[in-house]
Amino acid sequence: MSPSTSQPPTPTQPQRLRIGEGRISGYLSIFLSLLALGTVICLRFPELFTTPRFREVYQLANLRWLLVACLLLAFAFALTSALLSGRPRLALPGVLISAVAILFAGGVRPTAERSLDQTVFALSLDWLIIDILVLSAIFIPIELFFPQRPEQTKLHLEWKTDLVYFAISHLLVQVVAALVTAPAETLFGGWGLERLHETVTALPFLVQLALAMLLADLFQYAAHRAFHQVPLLWRFHAIHHSIRTVDWLAGSRLHLVDVVLTRAFSYLPLYVMGISMQVFYAYVVIVALQAVCAHANTRVPFGVLKFILVTPQYHHWHHSDDPRFYDKNFAIHFPFIDRLFGTFHLPGDEWPASMGLANENLPDGYLRQLVHPFRSSRGVERSTHDSPS
Ligand SMILES: [Zn+2]
Ligand SMILES: [Zn+2]
Repeated sequence: MSPSTSQPPTPTQPQRLRIGEGRISGYLSIFLSLLALGTVICLRFPELFTTPRFREVYQLANLRWLLVACLLLAFAFALTSALLSGRPRLALPGVLISAVAILFAGGVRPTAERSLDQTVFALSLDWLIIDILVLSAIFIPIELFFPQRPEQTKLHLEWKTDLVYFAISHLLVQVVAALVTAPAETLFGGWGLERLHETVTALPFLVQLALAMLLADLFQYAAHRAFHQVPLLWRFHAIHHSIRTVDWLAGSRLHLVDVVLTRAFSYLPLYVMGISMQVFYAYVVIVALQAVCAHANTRVPFGVLKFILVTPQYHHWHHSDDPRFYDKNFAIHFPFIDRLFGTFHLPGDEWPASMGLANENLPDGYLRQLVHPFRSSRGVERSTHDSPS
């Protein structure tokens, strides 16, 4: 990046959403009808749009209940929107999409759970639908009622890009998982680690989990720091730091190269240790939830916990656009790792004034950002990040 690059983009103008005018219920109706349509697609083509490991948890047959619930709520919110606004304009899309979902649902037959012939290239639409339902049910009310930056709780233009990141990272989770695990399996597959694995799996669940979190965070710290300090890697990680409106959804904005390399490196100790599958699944849930929570725009107080675990205030400092605070708070689980390596920054109850990239001008939109690191030679230099803080 050259110091003379053009000015950073001006923050996008938020659209105000007010309670009682029928827009919120209209958007909810569209959101739920799209989930219903996605659920029908999963039921119709499970071999192409569902995830074998995840199906063991939720059971395919239960998607029908999810479908009924989404349709009922979509119609209820459409009716609410029409009544509140006095116009059918915002209610109509939800009703139409729901109608398509109902038409498409006709003739769906139960599929035996184990009879599907699938590859890692199947899209995980089931994971996308269920995760966005769970996360939005948790984090939208938290951000709405306890926001750190109230002006950020309205719809802003960045959320569209972030939603695409969220969708693609979920749809491609099986391919990404294969890429993430391949290096560890290739490097350490024949090392005869069975004795170590037996010793580790004999440990209590919580001890294994704590060990997994600690080792993965240490490796993640190293990878994350490398992504900040190696110019070639920064090209990819700059995409994540381009977020100006940091919130629970924005945390998904990560370049695929960043995702695969960081996770593959963090997975190495987990593979070598050979933690049990239950611990591994628990770890995956924790890392996913903590990553979303760390980006959430919320002032919910965490008390002394904020010194023990990574919380929103801690990670928002990592996104500060003030060069004095660059290269701080790399950890994703335990802040003490940053203390250990001299990159800890948590000043009382203060939050960063603003976030994003101070001197770099990245393009908007998923596809442009996907190709940007491969095209941009200017992104190699990073003068502001190189200055010690
Ligand atoms: Zn970073
Ligand atoms: Zn982040």
